[in-house]
Amino acid sequence: MLTQVNSDQRFDKLTFNFLSTLNIIDHIRNTRDITRDELEQILETEDKASIEYLRSSAREVATAAYGNKIFMRGLIELSSHCKNDCLYCGLRRSNSAAVRYRLSDEQIYDCCEQGYKLGFRTFVMQGGEDGWFDDKRMCRIVSTVRQHYPDCAITLSLGERSRESYQALFDAGANRYLLRHETASPEHYARLHPAEMSFQNRIDCLYALKEIGYQVGCGFMVGSPYQTIDTLYADLQFIRTFQPQMVGIGPFISATGTPFQDQPNGKVGTTLRLLAIIRLLHPPVLLPATTALGTLHPQGRELGIQFGANVVMPNLSPRDHRKDYAIYDNKICTGEEAAECRACTEGRIRKIGYETVVDRGDFNPNLEY
Ligand code: SF4
Repeated sequence: MLTQVNSDQRFDKLTFNFLSTLNIIDHIRNTRDITRDELEQILETEDKASIEYLRSSAREVATAAYGNKIFMRGLIELSSHCKNDCLYCGLRRSNSAAVRYRLSDEQIYDCCEQGYKLGFRTFVMQGGEDGWFDDKRMCRIVSTVRQHYPDCAITLSLGERSRESYQALFDAGANRYLLRHETASPEHYARLHPAEMSFQNRIDCLYALKEIGYQVGCGFMVGSPYQTIDTLYADLQFIRTFQPQMVGIGPFISATGTPFQDQPNGKVGTTLRLLAIIRLLHPPVLLPATTALGTLHPQGRELGIQFGANVVMPNLSPRDHRKDYAIYDNKICTGEEAAECRACTEGRIRKIGYETVVDRGDFNPNLEY
């Protein structure tokens, strides 16, 4: 009899937790807001039905906004040089083992030409903070690509630059800019970056980009050292306030040759839950299923899509240099040609019932969902 009471009590507790997590998920979806305690409960629940409800709610919202379309962006990694020394990054300046390269203008144009033929209508030019790609050089590259491909979006991800630089690149034809905020907690930021880097400058850059007229992406690593529920809660509130057009999140993966090389990697499960929460908080957001997610789990990107992501970024960089853009260890997709990468990505997405589209895939705040 005693056993019966205990098992009934346990059942009641489980049912209560299950129902309360479902209520929380509905509440986030309806109010597009979340409390710190709600976040904690969602990240800590082990109840499979609750996680499935979170997944299906996020997917419903993504599908209502963008259908079953997944946008492909062609990624071109311009440079593995960087003047910064972020503690988590394999390209940090003090990592003497990092292999450094820069693409020439011609190599970049070749990547775009190949990408265009493969159906890409967004080129993402990404690199470390490398003074070689100064405004003169970058504006020349951007305006040449703009002239040749007027129907394509040009996304830049080149770190912190001056407002004048962002304006010049925008005037040259860039449309979008990705700059992860990394963490919305100044104290946490200070533990991930050297003293000469400033949290406030990072945030000021994001607001400057938005004011200039870019579609802007922020984002953070999941499971970075010293991250807590409170810092994650600050990240989500920053996203709610800033209302970015894109959010890039992926699990932290340690990089050899950095102070964090022995830190544990972030968790795929937590990343998926956060992707879903971000979709519920900000329904029209363009949300990539990142390569980092695919690095930690063989179906990581597919799972990302099933939890509400709607963007993938196959690599268009020359194959010879792929492995050298080593921001973290064991990065996938460093051996294939661009065409193979595109076909592989498309096949994986089709297999789970979604469709890759040849489309710029712009942010649309007026979507019905
Ligand atoms: S994260 Fe970016 S800015 Fe920091 S070291 Fe790496 S490439 Fe440079």
